[in-house]
Amino acid sequence: MSEKEILESMKAKFTEIFGGEGTAYFAPGRVNMIGEHTDYNGGHVFPCALTLGTYAIVKKRDDAVIRMASMNIDDAKITEMSVDNYEEKTEGHWTNYTRGVIWALKEKGCKVSSGFDVLYYGNIPAGSGLSSSASLEVLTALYLKDIFGFDAVSQLDLAYLGQKAESDFVGMKCGIMDQFASAMGKENAAMFLETDTMKFDYLPLVLDGAKIVITNSMVKHELASSEYNTRRAECEAAVKELNKKHDITTLGQLSVEEFDADCELISDETKRRRAKHAVYENDRTIRAVEALKANDITTFGKLMNESHTSLRDDYEVSCPEIDDLVAWAWEIDGVYGSRITGGGFGGCTVSIIADDAISKYQETAKARYMEKYSKEPEFYVVTPGEGAHKIG
Ligand code: ADP
Ligand code: MG
Repeated sequence: MSEKEILESMKAKFTEIFGGEGTAYFAPGRVNMIGEHTDYNGGHVFPCALTLGTYAIVKKRDDAVIRMASMNIDDAKITEMSVDNYEEKTEGHWTNYTRGVIWALKEKGCKVSSGFDVLYYGNIPAGSGLSSSASLEVLTALYLKDIFGFDAVSQLDLAYLGQKAESDFVGMKCGIMDQFASAMGKENAAMFLETDTMKFDYLPLVLDGAKIVITNSMVKHELASSEYNTRRAECEAAVKELNKKHDITTLGQLSVEEFDADCELISDETKRRRAKHAVYENDRTIRAVEALKANDITTFGKLMNESHTSLRDDYEVSCPEIDDLVAWAWEIDGVYGSRITGGGFGGCTVSIIADDAISKYQETAKARYMEKYSKEPEFYVVTPGEGAHKIG
């Protein structure tokens, strides 16, 4: 469906279930090219926003009633609450993300003072590692800022609010990358972000004779939340042990050389591997961006491959289906690089593939995947899209 068709069907649905008309907003999902699990470790990331994302149609109400529905869930069944009891979440319920953003705004001193009606629709496959959750949060922060006139909330604040909602309200202790990419994305550009300082640069990401191809393994990352929080705790524990010699607060502050010299300070072998991934991945991300600046897609691709190996063996956040998709991609001429993207335990791979090798890649991956796993992967050839914005 085109954006126009999406908005038309959403407007019709809004009128049908809530009555009247509202204002439309959009926030994108993201794909991370390299720099995985480095954001909560104070390292660098290199994501871009997608043109896929989540839409909302919203109308402020005069009373205290909040009504939410999503065309992706239960045929847009309405969940109702009030401005006084929205914090009463139900574990695992999709409305927690919206509740969390209202809560994060309140914590920032921006109180949602009346009710509203909102209808969502997203065209990111949910649970596939392309951050439908971050797009939902950033979108919610954006429309609430707009309809309640929270002028002090900047575009970057939308990212912080979304992260706070997901981390402290929903309970998934994520870093800032996903929400940052959704809020700050730019057409045809990726973002090189240093998460320790929040310094960032936009880099053009239109490749000469090659494209970014996302492959959805169709394996939902259901275990991700608890495993994610475990990885985070393991990295924090590694920092504490490294503190015997290094005055650091995050693994991103350590060079590869420093890590190699002193990694024995980390007593536990598993934690040492987790820390190794965080330190080496940060270094790879810096080198990958340098390569891209020099138009060297070959080196960029090799670093993507190394990133995958590290996520598979040291960080252990991959799964057999994803490892197969990546390994099969590596065998094809014209594939510069391929790796798991997103939090892990399923979801998607991201690959850079020469234009004339894309159909061969897709045909091979589809046939082998069907044979081994009896399901079809989905492919998306993507270009970087705009960050969260009001449509009107
Ligand atoms: P990811 O962010 O990788 O897509 P998550 O598990 O973090 O996966 O987030 C997916 C969850 O976000 C869904 O299960 C649902 O609760 C919520 N969600 C995302 N998009 C929508 C939507 N359009 N409508 C309702 N809920 C959504
Ligand atoms: Mg998510």
